[in-house]
Amino acid sequence: MQPAETPFDRTLLDGFDFACRPGCALCCYGSPAVSAVEAHQLLSIRPETDLLPASQGFEQLPCRPDGGACVFLASERCTVRGARPFPCRSFPVGVHIGARLQASLVLGCPGVNVEPLADWPDATSTPSKGLDEELASIEKEIAVAPLEAYRREAERRARAYARRVGMDPASMDSELREAVQEELDTLLDTGLDPWEPPSAEAGLADLPLFFDPDHGRVALASAPGGWELLAVAEGGGVARHLGTFLPPLDLPSLDPSAERLLAGFLRYVLARDHTLWSVYEENPDAPSADWLAEELAERLAEVASTVISRAAVRGLAAGAPSDHLGALGVADGIRATDMELLDRPTLGRIL
Ligand code: SF4
Repeated sequence: MQPAETPFDRTLLDGFDFACRPGCALCCYGSPAVSAVEAHQLLSIRPETDLLPASQGFEQLPCRPDGGACVFLASERCTVRGARPFPCRSFPVGVHIGARLQASLVLGCPGVNVEPLADWPDATSTPSKGLDEELASIEKEIAVAPLEAYRREAERRARAYARRVGMDPASMDSELREAVQEELDTLLDTGLDPWEPPSAEAGLADLPLFFDPDHGRVALASAPGGWELLAVAEGGGVARHLGTFLPPLDLPSLDPSAERLLAGFLRYVLARDHTLWSVYEENPDAPSADWLAEELAERLAEVASTVISRAAVRGLAAGAPSDHLGALGVADGIRATDMELLDRPTLGRIL
């Protein structure tokens, strides 16, 4: 991708500054969904492309087998720029399609300044901070027939799910958010184990990625001696092993600014429809609303300790081990975690 040239309306990011980092192209790792019109345009200029089969109305761009970069990425540039699909044009705004469309920022993008998260107000009301404006713009672009059909299907599935757990479909999401939001303040003290990355054997495409200013794209894998950092080559494969680091047994403590940022991030994660809907998808047999709320709270606690652990490992790798983290360290931890969160399957779909 050529992020610096993306004609993305930056006013959509509202209080979030956004600037691409040279040599990043993290946004080109994954398989963006492609509408029928976009598929037609792409195939007219690159007829040899084997799009991944349509699922729920959308085909997907194929990735290179080793490394997960889009087949159209070459020399850090998008080679189909004029025909790149919606998710590429809108990055770093991601759209979740469920019973409604919801836009959120992809915080794995190192160009997004995550500081405004510290003031993220609330996870229970309709998300604000410019996301409504983002949606108004985005909706115009993606309000196409397959999308409407997909929304109806997502609504139907959500209604069936709510009935199964004995909740009112109209208020299920907000009731769960309210229940979990009340516990957020105590979550940071729960001391859960961090969420381990997969092992390198899972394949590079499945590993969490982040952008490091010194090493470019870096994948995180669990390894026998701890967590391994692997610099990823654009063409696929591991460019360099950057070392294996033991995450601290006791998670580093946080200074007040770091705690505030992490708490804001957790409210933001809870405000995302994607978070709730991925929990629904992973727990089709949830016995009750209370059980679901507990599961969600545990998910957020896991996210918190994952952010802190990854921040600590990034600090170790940078030669700055510390048993205390500030807001910059937590911001690094958020960036090393967020794209993986958005990869989870949901009753809806991330475009
Ligand atoms: S189509 Fe272009 S912008 Fe989109 S992921 Fe592929 S290389 Fe990147």
